[in-house]
Amino acid sequence: MEDAPVVFANRVLLQECLDSGRLLIGEVLLGKDYSLRHAADVGRDDLISQSVSTGAREVARYDEEGNFRPIKTAPNLRRGWVIRASSLEEMEMALEHLYPSALGLWHAFLAKRLHPTSLRETLDRQTGMYRITQLLTPQQAGELVSRSCTSEGGCLRTILWDLAPGEPVTTLPESKLSLESLPEGRIPLICRELCNLVVAAARPIAKGNLPKKA
Ligand code: SF4
Repeated sequence: MEDAPVVFANRVLLQECLDSGRLLIGEVLLGKDYSLRHAADVGRDDLISQSVSTGAREVARYDEEGNFRPIKTAPNLRRGWVIRASSLEEMEMALEHLYPSALGLWHAFLAKRLHPTSLRETLDRQTGMYRITQLLTPQQAGELVSRSCTSEGGCLRTILWDLAPGEPVTTLPESKLSLESLPEGRIPLICRELCNLVVAAARPIAKGNLPKKA
């Protein structure tokens, strides 16, 4: 699997998940028949069929109330739909719309090719209007991450980066920071570096650290 081109490696990994009964990813339940649905919709017979491309993209884009979902891994995936892919390739495509890069990141992790970038390193490389985020203090960084990345209303990804090299995140539960306690039957959603939305959220906080004008 390691030597296969990435796209095929991800597909092989997905097939292995189906074969071994690893069928939960985020809020989605995968079927061995290549179906995908919200895990809370199991047993419903009134689900609306969605296509693997346009349909999956729409499901990922808006929540139940029609609000745009800037973070596709936020725990607010709408319900009431089913995608019946006709092949493993189609299932992979639908999954990529619902949870972008999830299989690729996990495959890289398994192949020991995933190299997380610390929050401080991500902020240090910001330029232009986001350069100011470099003023974020370690305490502010911890609080921001705790608010933005929590699985309770924030994001379902598991964070594999530190606040700074050798300085782990301490403001979130251990289960959010390691794949070791990944429940059986679950495909992980991995975060390898701070996303743009959290960088943007850091800006107004960091601005408050500028010296006050006399
Ligand atoms: S930084 Fe990662 S875990 Fe936090 S909200 Fe962004 S994608 Fe999710």
